[in-house]
Amino acid sequence: MKIIFHLIIFIFLTILTQVGGIIYLASITLIRRNKRILQLFVFLILYALSTFLIIPTIAPHFGREKIKESQNVELHSVFYKIANRNYVRPELNGIIENIGNSISRKHPGLKLTILDANFPFKDGFPLLPHLSHNDGKKVDISLMYKTKEGVLTNEKPSNSGYGVFENPLKNEMNQTTICKNNGAWQYDYPKYLTLGKNLDLEFSANATKDLISSILKNNEIQKIFLEPHLKHRLNINSEKMRFHGCRAVRHDDHLHLEI
Ligand SMILES: [Zn+2]
Repeated sequence: MKIIFHLIIFIFLTILTQVGGIIYLASITLIRRNKRILQLFVFLILYALSTFLIIPTIAPHFGREKIKESQNVELHSVFYKIANRNYVRPELNGIIENIGNSISRKHPGLKLTILDANFPFKDGFPLLPHLSHNDGKKVDISLMYKTKEGVLTNEKPSNSGYGVFENPLKNEMNQTTICKNNGAWQYDYPKYLTLGKNLDLEFSANATKDLISSILKNNEIQKIFLEPHLKHRLNINSEKMRFHGCRAVRHDDHLHLEI
C-alpha cells in the first residue's frame, strides 16, 4: 500500500516537472521512517535547489537552456518556471528573443507571452499533455488581446494560458465540430484547464497578425499551428502555418511554434 502511494506521487511529479519524481525518491530515501514533515521539508529544499540553481547550470550541457525573460518576453505563469517547463534549444531561445523585440517595436509595451515549452533533459521525453514538446524545439505562446476599450494588453483571458477559445464566427469553418463529429473527444478538453478566466478581454486580430508576421521573419521556424478559422480570419498565407490534425487539441487559445 505504501509503495503504491509513493509510486503515484513519483509518477505525478515526473509527469508534471520531469525531475520532481526522482527528487521525491531521494527525499524519502534520505529521511526514512515516518517523519513525513521532515521528508516534505527536505523534498522542497532539494527541489528548489535543483530547479533554480542546479538544472539551469547543467541543462546547457545537454543542449537546452531556460527561456530568457526580458522586457519583451515573459512567461505567463510562474508555474512554468517552478515546474521546469521553460526549456528550449539555444537556437529557439534566440528566436523567442527576436519575436519579443519585433512585437514590442511594432506595439511598444506589448510582450511575447510564453506558455509550455519543454523539459530540460532527454529527447523523446514528452511534456504532457503536449506529446510533441519532447526535443527542445517546440514552444507555445499566447495570442494577443485588448481591453473592452480597445487598448492592447499583456493580460490573457486564461490564468493557465490555455482553454479560453476565440470561437469561429457564424460564417467561419468550425474545425472543432468537424473533429468532434469524427470522434476526437479530446479536441476541446483544454477548456477544463483554464484555472480561472478573465472574460473582460477581447481577442486582437491585428496584434495577433503582427505577432505571426514577427514569427515568420525567422526562417528557422518550420511550423506554426493555429486553428483554421483564425488563419482565414487573419488572412495569413504561409505554408508554415499548418493544421495540426484532429488528434491534437484546438489551437484558437494559443499558438504553437517549432523549429
Ligand atoms: Zn504546442
